Amino acid sequence: MHNYEIAEYFSLLSKLMEIHGENPFKIKSYSNAAFTLDKLNDPVIDMEPHQLFSIRGIGDAIGQKVLEIIDYKRLSLLDSYIEKTPTGVFEFLKIKGLGPKKIVTIWKELEIESIGELLYACEENRLVKYKGFGAKTQQNIQDALVFYLQHQGRYLFQQVVPLVENLKIALAEKINGPDLFSISGGYKRQLEIIDHLEIVTTFSEKELTNWLTEKSFQCTKNEKYLSCIGTDKFEIRWYFTDISDFYWTDFTLSGSPEFLEKWESDPLFSKKIPFISEKNIFDQINSPFIPAPLRELPAIIDLAKNNKLPKLIQPEDIKGIIHSHSTWSDGVHTIEQMALAAIEKGYEYLMISDHSKSAFYAGGLSIDSVKAQHREIDMLNKKLAPFVIFKSIESDILNDGSLDYPEEILACFDIVIASIHSNLKMTEEKAMMRLLNAVNNPYTSILGHPTGRLLLSRKGYPVNHEALIDACADNNVVLELNAHPRRLDMDWRFIHLALQQDVLISINPDAHAIEGYDDCKYGVLVAQKAGLSAAQNLSSFNLAEMMEFVEFQQSKRN
Ligand SMILES: [Zn+2]
Ligand SMILES: [Zn+2]
Repeated sequence: MHNYEIAEYFSLLSKLMEIHGENPFKIKSYSNAAFTLDKLNDPVIDMEPHQLFSIRGIGDAIGQKVLEIIDYKRLSLLDSYIEKTPTGVFEFLKIKGLGPKKIVTIWKELEIESIGELLYACEENRLVKYKGFGAKTQQNIQDALVFYLQHQGRYLFQQVVPLVENLKIALAEKINGPDLFSISGGYKRQLEIIDHLEIVTTFSEKELTNWLTEKSFQCTKNEKYLSCIGTDKFEIRWYFTDISDFYWTDFTLSGSPEFLEKWESDPLFSKKIPFISEKNIFDQINSPFIPAPLRELPAIIDLAKNNKLPKLIQPEDIKGIIHSHSTWSDGVHTIEQMALAAIEKGYEYLMISDHSKSAFYAGGLSIDSVKAQHREIDMLNKKLAPFVIFKSIESDILNDGSLDYPEEILACFDIVIASIHSNLKMTEEKAMMRLLNAVNNPYTSILGHPTGRLLLSRKGYPVNHEALIDACADNNVVLELNAHPRRLDMDWRFIHLALQQDVLISINPDAHAIEGYDDCKYGVLVAQKAGLSAAQNLSSFNLAEMMEFVEFQQSKRN
């Protein structure tokens, strides 16, 4: 259990207590505890009780509650508040822009207790009559509600991984003998958002249905599959087949409709024979095996038949960490800790790119801090050689598209990553003005998270990808594929356009702690969908190649 998970209990508790009008001092102490736990470097689960109780802002009473959470994965005080809160009101907490104060007004004064009612009230312009709700706030709440309703029951790929792993273990135990199963559909295709899982199996339908019902799944049968919804509202669709149809069913579920249409129109294709393996399906139309993540666009079938399938990048092709934060801005670990972890994981270099001065909310670096940080990096480079820490910065792209420091400061970085973090609500015209100005700036080497999107929670600002990629090609600027599972930005659907123009992509973890390095693999999984190879990815450069790249980027500045 991570500290932030424990912190979440207290954060939710303080919000619910505020909704129920409890003592402000108590509320404050729980919200402070949440903050303290979240910021704490050492894992609480490894602590002795007396150590835990002696932390400022925790103490005996809250410490006992922390132990309760660790031992029982629940907090009885929180449960009691959840119990007396209507489900809909509880759900309001998930809506962006709705804090406890506004929720109290909505619940107690407007007497609204569900998301649907609240949306209706916004459409009816009812909120504006209440204190704290202007027309703009109401519009924002309405947009957030629409967004929320659209995305219910949808999960990030990364959120589904543990569920799938557990399911695989449980099924492997359950299915002994010749029975088969395959996790197919969008998961097999490595899509960034998963609406539901599709599983093909030769296992007895009756037995599996009983097993799932025992595990509290709600199962309903339709024409094609058995739909089972768990307590987390996530849907699993089970397709029961016999062995003669198993591989074909798995194949049809793992390809996009356009891909399948093209497949079935192949003159050599016939579904008459039962396939004996996945490869067997490809043999029939004389095609090399196409990995599932590439089964999106029909054109990939011709590429395969002409033996032109790309050699897909693999997680072990990442040679260095680019775009990482440290305690100098909003990171959890020091540069040295980040570097040692990178060495231990076998990376050859680390590019530290903390936030720049305008990002005050994220502890952006003043000019003096930049200089001090560079002295620390010089010292660490002596100590940790041959490992190299590069001096980088994630410079805010300001409102007019300029970078965040004067030229003489920008000149002292090995690499500048330029990203937009503020005023995200803008027209395409405005967004493109800022982006193109940044890309045209000779100090910019990498464009960070190009659209600013947060999957399932925030749409990115509108971007003309063609124009952006043209500008990157003209200026030798690399496009980031931010590997954070909630970003995966730029979207893989545009990467082929960049590759056509030899624009490099860089799979970067944007790590705010050591654990963030592991996100690289989610970047790799979606990059595979775009047909990216290691040679086209900057973070696959080895140290010598990276030194050369830095030198080349510096030559742009003269
Ligand atoms: Zn950023
Ligand atoms: Zn960042």
